[in-house]
Amino acid sequence: MKKLLILGAGTAGTMVANRLNRMLDMDEWFITLVDPEPIHFYQPGFLFLPFGIYTKKDVMKPKHDFIPSHAKLIKSNVEMIDYEHNQVHLSDSSTLDYDYLVIATGANIHPEETPGLAEHEWGKSIHTFYSFEGAMALAQKLRTWEGGRMVVNVVENPIKCPVAPLEFIMLADWCCHERGLREKVELVYVTPLPGAFTKPIASKLLGEMLDKKGIKVEPDFVIERVDPDAKKIVSYDEREIPYDLLVSVPLNKGADVIGKSGLGDELNFSPVNQYTFLSDKKDNIFVLGDASNIPASKAGSVAHFAVDMFATNFMRYVEGQELLPTFDGHANCFIESGYGKGVLIDFNYTQEPLPGRYPLPGVGPFTLLEESEMNRWGKLMFRWMYWNILLKGQELPLTPNMSMAGKWLS
Ligand SMILES: Cc1cc2nc3c(=O)[nH]c(=O)nc-3n(C[C@H](O)[C@H](O)[C@H](O)COP(=O)(O)OP(=O)(O)OC[C@H]3O[C@@H](n4cnc5c(N)ncnc54)[C@H](O)[C@@H]3O)c2cc1C
Repeated sequence: MKKLLILGAGTAGTMVANRLNRMLDMDEWFITLVDPEPIHFYQPGFLFLPFGIYTKKDVMKPKHDFIPSHAKLIKSNVEMIDYEHNQVHLSDSSTLDYDYLVIATGANIHPEETPGLAEHEWGKSIHTFYSFEGAMALAQKLRTWEGGRMVVNVVENPIKCPVAPLEFIMLADWCCHERGLREKVELVYVTPLPGAFTKPIASKLLGEMLDKKGIKVEPDFVIERVDPDAKKIVSYDEREIPYDLLVSVPLNKGADVIGKSGLGDELNFSPVNQYTFLSDKKDNIFVLGDASNIPASKAGSVAHFAVDMFATNFMRYVEGQELLPTFDGHANCFIESGYGKGVLIDFNYTQEPLPGRYPLPGVGPFTLLEESEMNRWGKLMFRWMYWNILLKGQELPLTPNMSMAGKWLS
């Protein structure tokens, strides 16, 4: 029997297990997953928890329900990957060996890396929605918040779902309006980027959208520290931004085990070939999802397109053929923009998001870089698709590579 070992049973790990379980001959292969956490969180739902749009039941299900019957899920933490000897050491002191390894240990927030952030005001005047616990605590805070200056700050990129902080502040605008609080609330978006988003056309259009909603953008702000007593954030060039409520997107890093095992960069993201996901370190290791250093968005949609490409390539590879450079960095994301509307962006490594229409057989088209009710419906439908189609490794009626159909080239 050949052994495929998958580290992390989150979005990417679960999808790849399900997909390869169907494609590989299970009389010849063992698939094992390792993950210490029993609950699978639908992380895009963390955005909606603080506003009471989703409850905790909407975002959590047992991991076990999504693991294919022929695969084994071991509940343990991976402590070390000994890639020279094709072995992995677990926290229960056991060792697993493998023929092929898929690393899918994701990314996590590290508020402790910014001085002043995770100290005595954490959970009081300083919050995050980038974790389940954080989003639930923020929900409680917002229920009784009476207004003031809300600052949403991205500490550093890359982060998971780079549009989520923008979505948060647009939802805050809507939510405060609904509660009759908007006149008493100042909304400020503070980012290390030169504008609202990474890519120029989207940055301009999203920036204009924020402006119309009365949300101020403070660009080029690289936070150095928080002063939790004076309630202000301070940048390396000594700019100061005061707040009453700080909603932080802390530094995102890959899992410690990646760094400890010598497989990571300075943020513990693992260097791979961006077209095939093959590790730079070893020719039987692939890294999927947020754990890799590919220059694509860290998003569930990217993981899904990536798994589509990877699975076909992996089948070639284990039969002795070379890997094809097939993945184009395709990302597509519905952006919640408040007031029952949303925006869609679709892009890849080389093509930035463009305005236009996104055709989807039987459902679309959706509007690209333009608000519509249909896009909000797409955003809310994504949860159903996630639990019922994506996690189970089923295919969508979409090409995994980006298409230019419907996009407007000015
Ligand atoms: C607020 C928020 C909003 C988002 N919105 C969107 C969105 O709208 N659209 C979208 O496409 N994406 C969105 N995302 C991003 C999306 O959730 C992630 O990109 C996706 O979950 C990444 O999948 P992954 O498998 O790489 O990581 P994860 O799903 O995080 O899984 C990693 C797994 O590895 C396990 N693990 C970690 N360390 C170890 C270890 N040492 N040993 C064993 N197991 C380990 C963890 O327990 C976890 O189960 C959002 C994320 C957040 C936080």
